[in-house]
Amino acid sequence: MRSVSLFVLSAVLLSAQSFQGSLRGRVVDPNGASVPVAKITIVDEGTSISRSTLTSNEGEYTFASLTPATYSVLAETPGFKRLERKGVVVSTQSSVTVDLALEIGQVTEQIKVRNHLTHPRVRRIIVSMEAPKTLMEAIKYFSDPDRTLQFFVAYRWPKGVECPYCEAKEPMFLATRRIWKCRKCRKQFSVKIGTIFNESPIGLDKWMTAAWLIANCKNGVSSYEIARDLGVTQKTAWFMLQRLRLALQDDDGGKLSGEVEVDETFIGGKARNMHVEKRKRRITGTGTKDKTAVIGIIERGGRVRAAVVPNRRKSALQHQVRKHVQAGSALYTDALLSYEGLAGEYAHQVIDHAVSYVDGAVHTNTLENFWSLLKRGIAGTYVSVEPFHLFRYLDEQAFRYNERELNDSQRFSIVCKRIAGRRLTWNKLTGKEPTPTE
Ligand SMILES: [Zn+2]
Repeated sequence: MRSVSLFVLSAVLLSAQSFQGSLRGRVVDPNGASVPVAKITIVDEGTSISRSTLTSNEGEYTFASLTPATYSVLAETPGFKRLERKGVVVSTQSSVTVDLALEIGQVTEQIKVRNHLTHPRVRRIIVSMEAPKTLMEAIKYFSDPDRTLQFFVAYRWPKGVECPYCEAKEPMFLATRRIWKCRKCRKQFSVKIGTIFNESPIGLDKWMTAAWLIANCKNGVSSYEIARDLGVTQKTAWFMLQRLRLALQDDDGGKLSGEVEVDETFIGGKARNMHVEKRKRRITGTGTKDKTAVIGIIERGGRVRAAVVPNRRKSALQHQVRKHVQAGSALYTDALLSYEGLAGEYAHQVIDHAVSYVDGAVHTNTLENFWSLLKRGIAGTYVSVEPFHLFRYLDEQAFRYNERELNDSQRFSIVCKRIAGRRLTWNKLTGKEPTPTE
């Protein structure tokens, strides 16, 4: 009796290989073109056990050695609607083919950005329907490395993956290592290459969550918070945030126009808590020791620009005004003498803060609001910022101000798009390579 059952058991084991089936297929878009890097998940409908893979460059996927059962097949990739096929029966020794044709699921939103006095700026913002809407959703969404890779690939190479070395199209996707190999120059590369994530060993899941936080936390987010939330060291978190701030830099190069307010302020002044060497490095503004002079230029109802200036002298301030404000615009400043001489190019009106703060339209209150946001962020979240890095915090606060009419998901989408084209090395960040400060 005993030998019989042993015999039956070993027979089952021996035939296991041939007893199993397989499932394969190709994923295509509405034009019949293959969809690479789509995430395919199969779920055994009886046991709920799932397996997943990514499609190859030809849009193909394969699940070998499957236990015969009824499966659900799910295809997901940014820009397309989720597609699920239920009741796919895989029987013993059979190879089942399930091809999947995805439908476009991307929404292109036209967002009108209010900008009174000048023409409304119309921007196209692409937000994937499956993109996360809240921080909780973002953390959950990016906890899946395959989905995160797909998400970032869609921003990185919207027209399809391309070799960063020789620009050859359709490289081979090595799914197990989540990298590509160029068919022409044979070089391998990851999705991080040539972006601000370049050469970073930090996972995309952590990068994307940090990007979400910096895009949307009103008063900013500190490296200590990021370190705690993502489980990385504070030094790593600090470097991540500095790289992300690079993606927040305004790439809308147009000059401000209409009614424009210009004002300066000083940031810092906590030098007494600093090491002597650090204190020496501080930029000193005219008359105000240990503080860094910052100029702000804001278009009423529009965008803000903020930059570190070496001092409050005429040449420094007027250079910024001419660089950022279109000639002929209405210009409002305080009575600082450094602004004298701009009346030839601008309709320049002055509010003397020694007399009053508002005289009809002549005031710099819009900018005052921005300064208080900026100072609250720096004091509350960052405690102290070194002058060398101050411009990055200015970029960060200006980004959130300039994108204030967007929702969290849309702001995040803009950051993702900018991430793709910018990179920052440790040397550049720490000053071993020159970094422009304006
Ligand atoms: Zn190549």
